[in-house]
Amino acid sequence: MKKIVILGSTGSIGTQTLDIAAKMKNIISVEGLSAHSNLTLLKEQIKKFKPKAACVNAPSDFKELKKWSAANKIKTVFYCGRAGLEKIASLPQADTVISSVVGSAGLKPVLRAINAGKNIAIANKEAIVMAGRKIMELARKKKVSVLPVDSEHSAVFQCLCGEKKSQVKKILLTASGGPFYKYAGDFSKISVEQALDHPTWKMGRKITVDSATLMNKGLEAIEACVLFDIPIEKIEIVIHPQSIVHSMVEYIDGSVIAQLSNPDMRLPIQYALTYPDRTFSPVKSLDFAKAAKLEFYSPDFTKFPCLKLAYSAAKKGFTMPAVMSAANEEAVYLFLDGKIKFTDIAFIVGKTMKAHKIVKTDNIDDYVQADVWARQYAKRLIIKHTI
Ligand code: NDP
Ligand code: MG
Repeated sequence: MKKIVILGSTGSIGTQTLDIAAKMKNIISVEGLSAHSNLTLLKEQIKKFKPKAACVNAPSDFKELKKWSAANKIKTVFYCGRAGLEKIASLPQADTVISSVVGSAGLKPVLRAINAGKNIAIANKEAIVMAGRKIMELARKKKVSVLPVDSEHSAVFQCLCGEKKSQVKKILLTASGGPFYKYAGDFSKISVEQALDHPTWKMGRKITVDSATLMNKGLEAIEACVLFDIPIEKIEIVIHPQSIVHSMVEYIDGSVIAQLSNPDMRLPIQYALTYPDRTFSPVKSLDFAKAAKLEFYSPDFTKFPCLKLAYSAAKKGFTMPAVMSAANEEAVYLFLDGKIKFTDIAFIVGKTMKAHKIVKTDNIDDYVQADVWARQYAKRLIIKHTI
């Protein structure tokens, strides 16, 4: 029996993980859940999965949950806030934590989970970009695994199985290109609605905007460097609009190994939970005769400056990726709130990175500090320019 905790159970990855858990009741038991604000959905999940513990952010929601559970004779123990999330992440009954909260808020809980000896299935890429080397170092020390949930990284992980890392020539990360890859209009006029209209994946709002700016692929390039301990120079991005080839690895002999499937996040989530085994999944088989064509293009770094910024952050290293990601988070939410233009996202990230004095450090607190500084700087920039 795999005993899991899902951090961010009310999100896109969280709900799909529960979908898998419901189908695999005989091998997966849900021990802990966390939501940030979606109390209604959390209550439904608690009724269905009866976890030992659950967490929400606001004290008022916590009180409401306690009242509701007493009235409904529910035995789940409740926690709240950041401390509560860390409690859930280190729940004694669990052996595996699925980290699917969005943003750098996921860093501390994941470190806490590793410290408590839990294996990690990680979707929360912002935590890896912010302080991934610390996460991996701690995981090695604690002898726990950190398995990728992101579809590209799950693909790379599968393409690397049984191979020698020293013989990897490069990793080819595929990208759908988002809704604007072929867009010829004015990028500054792109609306929130347009940016949220992703052609192949249905995901949370933040990652959907990141996919539209291609920052998502930049974050993923850094994520790949960390998870597979490979330099950024060996990571190449390939636009592949069909999202069938989820990524590839080229070896020194010129062989390229790829992982393919219909686009469905339940596949990489499930693989992270069942590895090294594979089990039946609801994902439809690929019909190659019907797949028509698979296209591949080079990305346009000028049209999508976030990609250039991410490669630059990766090369600079230390606190720069944390700064980039934090400034991006702030900018994306301002865009979603209708306060800035689509093109302001890259502008804010670029300006914040330019102002940052890199701290050559190994201390986790410096990464947290860099994140805080970047958010403040990005917000000040917005006020100054009154975008
Ligand atoms: P969603 O926005 O759909 O869900 C985010 C989850 O995190 C929700 O449960 C939300 O709670 C919770 N949450 C939000 N803010 C906080 C916070 N400050 N502290 C704690 N919990 C919080 O996001 P996704 O599921 O799409 O993405 C989750 C992560 O996985 C991201 O890092 C994303 O980049 C990554 N990822 C997602 C993919 C996808 O297909 N969706 C694919 C690959 C990676 P509530 O809803 O209750 O407010
Ligand atoms: Mg991805």
